[in-house]
Amino acid sequence: MQSEKAGLYIHIPFCLSKCGYCSFYSIKSVNLIPEFIDALNKEIKFYSKSFKSFDTVYLGGGTPSLLTIGQLGTIFKAINKSYKIDPCAEITMEVNPGDMSLGYLQSLRSLGINRLNIGIQSFDDHILRLLGRRHNSAEAVSAINNSRKAGFDNIGIDLIYGIHGQNISLWKKTLQITLSYKPEHISCYQLSLSKNTPLYKKYFSEGWQLLDENTELKLFFTTAEEMENAGYIHYEVSNFARQDKFKSRHNQKYWQHVPYLGLGPAAHSFFGNRRWWNTSSVKTYLKEIAQGKMPLENTETLSGEQLQLEALFLGLRTKAGIDLKRFKTKFGIDLLKDKKIVIESLIKNRHVELKNGFLRPTRAGMAIADSLALI
Ligand code: SF4
Repeated sequence: MQSEKAGLYIHIPFCLSKCGYCSFYSIKSVNLIPEFIDALNKEIKFYSKSFKSFDTVYLGGGTPSLLTIGQLGTIFKAINKSYKIDPCAEITMEVNPGDMSLGYLQSLRSLGINRLNIGIQSFDDHILRLLGRRHNSAEAVSAINNSRKAGFDNIGIDLIYGIHGQNISLWKKTLQITLSYKPEHISCYQLSLSKNTPLYKKYFSEGWQLLDENTELKLFFTTAEEMENAGYIHYEVSNFARQDKFKSRHNQKYWQHVPYLGLGPAAHSFFGNRRWWNTSSVKTYLKEIAQGKMPLENTETLSGEQLQLEALFLGLRTKAGIDLKRFKTKFGIDLLKDKKIVIESLIKNRHVELKNGFLRPTRAGMAIADSLALI
C-alpha cells in the first residue's frame, strides 16, 4: 500500500487544565492515561500491514509531556516493533514549559526524541495569564535552557499574537526574547478565537474587539520582517526556520499531500485520496479498541477536484509554492493556461510570482493566502 515515506502522528489527549483559546481535543481526566497507553499500543499494531515505515514521528496533543518516561518508552517500543523507523527520522515531541526538568529532558533524548516543540506562546506573564496557560515566562526561559543542556539541538517555539492588550511593541518584545535564544524553528500563530472557548466568551463579556484587517496585516508583516531580519526563512504562512534543514519535515508532509498516519483520539490520517479520523472521545476510543475495532469517527474519499483545490490551498501557503509541472502531471491541469487571467492579475498585484516553474506567493500573497487559493 505504501510507496512514499509517511509520517506518524500520535495524539496524547490529556491536559492538566484547558487554555482559554484552545479548540484541540483534550480532557483533564489524567487518571485514564495508563488505560489510554494500553489502547494506543494496540492501535499502533492495527496499521502495521498497511504502513511499513516512517521517517517522521510527531507526538502532539494535548500535552505529551504529561506522560512519564516509562509510558513514553512503551509507546516507542510498540512503534519500533510494528514499523521501521528511518535511522535519520525527525522525532518531535510537543512539550509544555512547566513540565521540563533537566532530568526529564535528558530521558527524552535517550528515548530518541531529537526535536522539541515548546508551547511558550508569549514571554509576557500578563498575556500568558490571559491565555490561561499554566506556565510563566521564567519557566519558559528555564525550559529552553534545560533543553539545550539536555542536548537538544533542534528546538521549535510556538508563539501566539494578536491578543487583546498586546500592541505591536509588546509583541515585538516577545519576538526579540524568542530570537535571543536562537531556536531552530519558530511558529507564530495569529490568535483565532473559536466559539465556545473561555477566551471567546471573555472577549464577548468584556466587549473586547477582535483585530481589524489592517491591524492583522500590520502584525503579520511586522512578524515576517523581524524574523527575516534575524535570518529566518519564512517557509509557510506561520512558520519560520533558521536554516532549510530545520523546516519541520513532519508538517511539510501535511502541506504536500504525503501520507500520514494519525493515532489516538481525534487524530487524522491521509493516504492517496482517502482521509480518515478517529473519534474525539477518549472513552469511545478505549471502548472500541477493547472490542478490537478501529476507533474511527469518519472517513472520506476526496475527488480529483477536491485534491486539486487542497493542493492549491496548501501550496499557496508555502514559500516553495506550486510546482506547475508536477501539478499538471498529477491533475492534468495547466494552471497557467486554465487560470491565465486570474494568475496574471495576481502577478500584477504582486501577490504571486512565477519562478523556475513554480507559482509562489510573495509576502503580500502569504498575508492573504487563504483567499489566494480561491483562484
Ligand atoms: S496545553 Fe495545548 S492542547 Fe492543552 S489546552 Fe493548552 S493549548 Fe490546548
